Amino acid sequence: MERSYISHFRPEVDNISGYTPGEQPREAGIIKLNTNENPYPPSPGVSKEMASFDAARLRLYPDPLATAVRAEIAAMTGFSIDSIIAGNGSDDLLTIATRCFTDAVRPMACFDPTYSLYPTLAALQGAKCIQIPLTDDFEVPDDVLKQTEEANLFIIARPNSPTGNLFHKPQIEKICAEFHGIVLIDEAYVDFSRDNCLDFVRTYPNVIVMRTFSKSRSLAGLRFGYAIAHPKIIEGMIKMKDSYNVPMLTQKLALASLWDKAYFDTCIAKVKTDREVLILGLKELNFKVLPSEANFVFAAPPKNAKNYFLDLKRRNILVRYFPTARTCSYVRISVGSIEEISVLLKTTKEILSETGSNNSVGSYVTTGIGRSSER
Ligand code: PMP
Repeated sequence: MERSYISHFRPEVDNISGYTPGEQPREAGIIKLNTNENPYPPSPGVSKEMASFDAARLRLYPDPLATAVRAEIAAMTGFSIDSIIAGNGSDDLLTIATRCFTDAVRPMACFDPTYSLYPTLAALQGAKCIQIPLTDDFEVPDDVLKQTEEANLFIIARPNSPTGNLFHKPQIEKICAEFHGIVLIDEAYVDFSRDNCLDFVRTYPNVIVMRTFSKSRSLAGLRFGYAIAHPKIIEGMIKMKDSYNVPMLTQKLALASLWDKAYFDTCIAKVKTDREVLILGLKELNFKVLPSEANFVFAAPPKNAKNYFLDLKRRNILVRYFPTARTCSYVRISVGSIEEISVLLKTTKEILSETGSNNSVGSYVTTGIGRSSER
């Protein structure tokens, strides 16, 4: 007789629902502004490298330390190669850091709202996560150090997501100088912003700065991220990572994307210009739009945000809606191409002009719709 299933998981695994990534639809014809991908293709050098890649080489394992791409990042940033670790996207590095620095007696700290993967990783690790509410305008509260006294790892997204703002640098420096544990500054969106915190790694041996190729380098599908910190921190994180965490093709193409700086600069400039078009357009439609230093905007529609999100979805435009207390009157919209922005604004105008369609909570068929965005 077949035995019935009994869970052997640790309760930390059984007791959480897990992180739900944004929807990744496979159908054509959808305007996808929900996971902050870049609307432009990766640099032409990436396609060239891919075309010349000999599949026979895949017989072999990749370089466990991604040496060539780390060396290029070292040359670009002025840090030594032993200050850099490569990851399978920056989510991989977040997992490694959580496993290195948190456990049942070493809590994590992060802000609320922020990237919701952080508390999920802490929960999986069996670590407490101290979530510090941002102020009403989504800034860092003055008593942040007091609230995080117990924590051993403090993860700060700068620019923050989903809010898009750039916390004041002096406030972050004070945290780096006075927090007694590790400060991990997640700079996933930094290339779209006016400054960065890399200089803190030089001054403070407890600071990790983490970046990704998923957003500014148009390589979300490739899975490449890196972190820079004191060589002792990197040495420990390397012990914790999978031996071959970055695939061979990923290493090769990530390196190729670093060579074409002019292309990179052009794409960033376009996204920044178009971000202003999106912000202005939304403001003209009476949205409250937060200042953004990222490739997305966080905006409160003049009517019910969830219904606006669902209305867009029915018209094949995906944005992100987070139904938490602090975020439920906003949607997060990625800066797409100028054509996509124009369709979004035109559709939004239509939605808003449809009488009674936006305030009527409950008048929508919600079965299944938007479930994957409910985090
Ligand atoms: N940090 C933040 C703040 C993010 O929004 C994301 C994207 N979801 C990541 C890290 C992870 O990016 P990736 O794993 O694609 O490098």
